[in-house]
Amino acid sequence: MTKDDVLIIGSGVAALQLANQLKLDLNVRILTKEKIRTANSYLAQGGIAAALSANDHPTKHMVDTLEAGRFHNHSDVVQQVIHAAPLLIKKMAQQGDIFDKNQRGELFLGMEGAHSEKRIVHGGGDATGKNVMEHLISKLKNNVIVEENVFAYELLLNTRKNRCIGVKAKALDGSIRSFYGTYCIIASGGCGQLYSYTSNAKTVSGDGIAMAYLAGAEIVDMEFVQFHPTLLYVNGETKGLISEAVRGEGATLITEDGTPIMEGVHPLKDLGPRHVVSQRIYECLKKGYQVYLDISKIAEFEKRFPSVTTICEENGIRISDGKIPVAPGSHFLMGGIKTDLIGRSSIMGLYAIGEASCTGLHGANRLASNSLLEGLYQGDQLSKWINEGRKETQSLDSKPFYPSFKKESFDLPNVQQIRDLMMERVGIVRNEGNLMKQLAWTDQYKPEEINLDACSSAEMTKVFMLIISKLITESALKRTESRGGHFRSDYPMEDDKMWLRKSIIHKYIHGVEKPNEHTKTALAT
Ligand SMILES: Cc1cc2nc3c(=O)[nH]c(=O)nc-3n(C[C@H](O)[C@H](O)[C@H](O)COP(=O)(O)OP(=O)(O)OC[C@H]3O[C@@H](n4cnc5c(N)ncnc54)[C@H](O)[C@@H]3O)c2cc1C
Repeated sequence: MTKDDVLIIGSGVAALQLANQLKLDLNVRILTKEKIRTANSYLAQGGIAAALSANDHPTKHMVDTLEAGRFHNHSDVVQQVIHAAPLLIKKMAQQGDIFDKNQRGELFLGMEGAHSEKRIVHGGGDATGKNVMEHLISKLKNNVIVEENVFAYELLLNTRKNRCIGVKAKALDGSIRSFYGTYCIIASGGCGQLYSYTSNAKTVSGDGIAMAYLAGAEIVDMEFVQFHPTLLYVNGETKGLISEAVRGEGATLITEDGTPIMEGVHPLKDLGPRHVVSQRIYECLKKGYQVYLDISKIAEFEKRFPSVTTICEENGIRISDGKIPVAPGSHFLMGGIKTDLIGRSSIMGLYAIGEASCTGLHGANRLASNSLLEGLYQGDQLSKWINEGRKETQSLDSKPFYPSFKKESFDLPNVQQIRDLMMERVGIVRNEGNLMKQLAWTDQYKPEEINLDACSSAEMTKVFMLIISKLITESALKRTESRGGHFRSDYPMEDDKMWLRKSIIHKYIHGVEKPNEHTKTALAT
């Protein structure tokens, strides 16, 4: 048994930013499922949004964020994060050679889809996530212990079940270890791996959200999944992300005979909001067309987009041909563990930051390059809160959270089946019939009742995927409208009267799921 001041699950930007900002007299432990660099954060290409140019203003950035989020955002949260962004980025830029600069030595600002100004700071061309992560890793001090290949799977609550005090985890050899912390933080990212087409790292499959759900935390907005319009698509499989910045620099979407597909679909054409562009590509693919990004007009493509060039070359696509085959895939989860901007969840002692959390910044759809920003900001905020020394006294009299009837023998589907069904039935375009089918399919496995102590890591991953699948499907079924990342072909319009600023919240208590709650002011203060 180990006891630390701060216990962090996951090693992306949110986790590392938090660890770096904590006081040196705090013991910090990071548990991560594979290697420290195996995280979506490391893959981020486009950059980080901040209103830094003379033409720009945080208010404009706010408007773009709210517009992309289809006004489902929590406006106070948007205001705070977006106004803090310029200083946060400037401070980070002063700490090292992380971001690209122009000839005058100023931060180079790029354009991205649905932004009204050039405000995307990037590093190493399109290797922003890698640059930021390497910077954060290099700054880790001796008070931070990083444990790799440790799969966290069950939150530990005190005997009164009102405070989180730690987590159980499995090592590679299957042995079970308990870790305790005064502050327990979930920073395990979103759930992209739930879908057969995804841009996400292999470890990002919703574990932290499922764990928090099983421990009784409130989970919100799970129907809002963002599909990235342009993943490299080779031999029927998605192979990596083709950054939105490629369209920002002038690439257009075409079919094999060169017909532009975004004409007349949205006023911003190829730079329209992600859900509009994804949906259009999806429709074209369903009709049997292959869709390409026409990059022939981008000068020095290889220099501007070295990561994209590498991904293409590794998969047999020549940049000199001037077009890249693409398909949309799951990219970002707007929903998650309901928290405030400090990361406080509905369970005392349990915090969530980064993509695992839902603060309300992104609303129904994330504006490109706002998520690294959110993770960095939240890491900063939570560190301040912890550094203020608000230590809560607690005993280590833990009880396993799971009720005694947990099943030790069970059937589980294979991972590919879960992914394929999610893509087909709960993907970009949804309808009641498919959602009902998916719910019935998931329910037969009763994943909440499975004893995780008896599972291998592969089995735990499936259990968590089934739980997240259920949460997304139930919410998608309940929300009888289309908004942001959630599109229902049977309810194709936004329905402000019924749904504006209403959220669907899930809460699981002692083996019985309470009915979904709708609230008008859905997000925690
Ligand atoms: C290809 C790609 C490109 C992107 N580009 C951009 C961009 O340009 N700008 C932008 O703002 N956003 C971008 N995003 C989104 C952004 O990268 C993520 O939202 C953000 O990095 C999430 O950070 P995080 O700290 O929450 O978690 P992540 O970086 O996802 O890290 C999660 C960590 O938790 C670990 N973990 C998961 N489960 C467990 C478990 N059970 N036990 C222990 N550890 C666990 C994982 O291994 C990983 O280390 C991109 C995402 C992808 C996939």
